[in-house]
Amino acid sequence: MPDTKVYLLDGGTLVLDGFHIWWNKGPGGEVRFPVYSVLVDHPQGKFLIDTGYDYDHVQKVLPFEKPQQTEQQTIPGALKLLGLEPKDIDVLFNSHFHFDHVGGNKFFPDVKKICHKDEMPQAANCQSFEVLGYSDLAFSTEVAEARGMTDQLDAGQTAGNTSFEFVEGDVELAPGVTLIYTPGHTVGHYSLLVEFDTRRPLLLTLDAAYTRKNYENDINAGFHIDPVAGVESMRRLKKIEEDKNAEVLFSHDPESFKEYRTGVNFYG
Ligand SMILES: [Zn+2]
Repeated sequence: MPDTKVYLLDGGTLVLDGFHIWWNKGPGGEVRFPVYSVLVDHPQGKFLIDTGYDYDHVQKVLPFEKPQQTEQQTIPGALKLLGLEPKDIDVLFNSHFHFDHVGGNKFFPDVKKICHKDEMPQAANCQSFEVLGYSDLAFSTEVAEARGMTDQLDAGQTAGNTSFEFVEGDVELAPGVTLIYTPGHTVGHYSLLVEFDTRRPLLLTLDAAYTRKNYENDINAGFHIDPVAGVESMRRLKKIEEDKNAEVLFSHDPESFKEYRTGVNFYG
C-alpha cells in the first residue's frame, strides 16, 4: 500500500503586529508571516486541510495585514504545481473558520466538507472581538445570511454546496490521520496528527500555536476565545509530541517555515 504524503500548499504571507502574534508578550512591530494549507494524500483519498486566504477579501477588509500572494500561492495555483485541480480533492476539512483558513473554500463546491460542530454557530454569531477573524464568510451561505453579509457570496454558492458535516472531540479522518481537538484559539479549533509507515509522525499545530515561540512558552495569539483553554491545548500537543516522537509544524512561523517542505517537496 502506498504510504501517506503530506504537502504544504504555500498561500502567501500576511502582516501582524508582534503583540498580536505573541499576546501580551511581543515584541511589537510588523511581522510578515506565512499562510499555508495542508494536503494529505492518503491511500483512502486526498484530504485538504484549510484553504488559505482570499487576496481580494484581505485587501478589502483587512488591508493592514498587507497580503502578498502570487498566482501560484492561490489554492488552484498551489494544487496545479502538484498536477492537481480542486476537483481532485475528496474531503475538505477546515481547522477553524478564520479568514486565512477558509478563503479558498469557494473552489470546492462539490467536495465533502467537515468542521467542528461548534465552529459554525460561533462564526454565525461571534463575539465582537472575533469579527475580524471571522470576516470572510463566503465559505457558508448559512453563516453569511446569519451575519447579514450575503454580498460576500459568489454566484453559485448555495446552502447545498456550502454545507458541512460536523464532528467533535478527536476524530480519525482516515487511518493515521487524526484531528486533535485543540480549543482556545477558537471554540472548535483542531490540530492535525499524521502518522506514516516509514517516517516519524507530523504534528501540525495549526493555529493552536502560530510559532515555535508561542508553543514553547504557552503564549496565545491575540486572536483567541479562551486563553486558558488555549494554553491547555498547547500543553496537550506537547504531550502528544513527546509520546509520538512527532515533528511539529507551526501555522504562521516565519523562521520555521523557511525549513518546511513546500511545493512539490512533501513529507512521507
Ligand atoms: Zn486562526
